[in-house]
Amino acid sequence: MEKSPKIEKNLVSEENILNWNSVQDSFQKAFGSEIYSSWLKNISLLKEFNHYVILGVQTRFFRDWITSRYADKILNELQKHKLSINRIEFKIEGERSNSKTISQKPDINKISDIKDGVLNYNRLNPNLSFENFIVGKSNNLAFLSAKKITSELSRYNPLFIYGGVGLGKTHLINAIGLKLKDSSNVMFISAERFMYQFIKSIKKNEMDTFKDFFRKANVFIIDDIQFIRGKEGLQEEFFHTFNSLFDKSAQIIISSDRPPNRLDRVQDRIKSRLSGGLVVDIGVPDYDLKQKILKKKITEFQNSFHEYPNLNEEIIDYIAKEENLNIRELIGIFNRVVAFSKMSKKPLSVNDCKIILKDVHNNNKVISIDKIQNVTSNFFSINLQEMLSQRRSRPLARPRQIAMYLAKKLTTRSLPEIGRKFANRDHTTVIHAVKTIEKLSQDNSLMKKNIDEITSIILSD
Ligand code: ADP
Ligand code: MG
Repeated sequence: MEKSPKIEKNLVSEENILNWNSVQDSFQKAFGSEIYSSWLKNISLLKEFNHYVILGVQTRFFRDWITSRYADKILNELQKHKLSINRIEFKIEGERSNSKTISQKPDINKISDIKDGVLNYNRLNPNLSFENFIVGKSNNLAFLSAKKITSELSRYNPLFIYGGVGLGKTHLINAIGLKLKDSSNVMFISAERFMYQFIKSIKKNEMDTFKDFFRKANVFIIDDIQFIRGKEGLQEEFFHTFNSLFDKSAQIIISSDRPPNRLDRVQDRIKSRLSGGLVVDIGVPDYDLKQKILKKKITEFQNSFHEYPNLNEEIIDYIAKEENLNIRELIGIFNRVVAFSKMSKKPLSVNDCKIILKDVHNNNKVISIDKIQNVTSNFFSINLQEMLSQRRSRPLARPRQIAMYLAKKLTTRSLPEIGRKFANRDHTTVIHAVKTIEKLSQDNSLMKKNIDEITSIILSD
């Protein structure tokens, strides 16, 4: 049987220790080779904890660039290798030569100054400022309110900003923090980290320190408050923190993916506190805003690299007309298009752009193993439970193997993860299935046709 290098590589990826080489491989796939080789290739893994990793980058510029553009997606990719990771930190390693190999073993000395202390949770991103925030119809009110807050502290308390993902909530509340950080004691934290600190403090018997720490802020910014839904203990603590801050007239700023009254499984008294100040929403960007953002991105690019990406008005117009994009996705598309134009070294046509967008859409689509199993069993008109069962008859075993093969091909799940989703089979069974189907689809045109059809059903909605 022929050897597939892809499979060999995956065999070495252990469940709980990141295999940095295969992480790098998936960066390359996810970001494309252009972005990968310009920005991500030299990232090293400095230290790995259960829930987060510390990554080494060469310079401050690299750190800022990577954090502002790729951090979310990097985190996303890392989670595909290790689900428990929910945070990344970057550490500047100083200029290092390209020849240095990526070290699997963390260099403890280099990161001794990173303590998992409370202060570490109080980071503002210098790039997410008011100056870099582009205003349009969908975010104008939120923007004005955020600005207003900075000039009239505690007049509107709390400021509650809500809206869907990728629309600029974190950017805006971060901007408030940046603006005020020199004149006030600004505390900026996500609700999730707030919980992490809270639990840690309980365990270490340090609740007094916890309370003091958060309550001495005079500007308290908390991101993604929807995270407290259903978490009673956390809500209790948040309520008290909120009250003591409010009582001493500290400005409180909150972001959420939904308005206060729609925060189900949150205590009523908290909801009423949250809606007691100024509540504003950020909406989906319209054509004008998308166009403005694209133009700003081009200028930014030009300033950083002294080269003008080959994007004409027609292309900008074409991208800006794309419906239902949030701003994060819009910027993602921009990066892809720029990378493509750099690579092809020619002005892009609208047709090139169409192809890139289609690709982006396919890549953005998260395909689940459940979906693959459903579509495959439907396709062969067999019962899903039977397909997953231990029975070995060919009418069940082949579709099962096809589904495993597609799970490997269309998702980034590891072999053990795929095995688990197939009634707890071993990863070697998955490898066998992948090899079998790969071979069959080379030799057998019906097999190939079936696989193509199943794939297109999976990708089509
Ligand atoms: P949210 O917190 O609502 O999910 P973010 O604040 O993280 O969204 O925004 C997603 C990305 O889009 C960030 O890179 C952010 O800088 C960018 N962004 C969002 N809104 C704007 C805007 N109005 N102008 C410029 N960049 C924006
Ligand atoms: Mg956010």
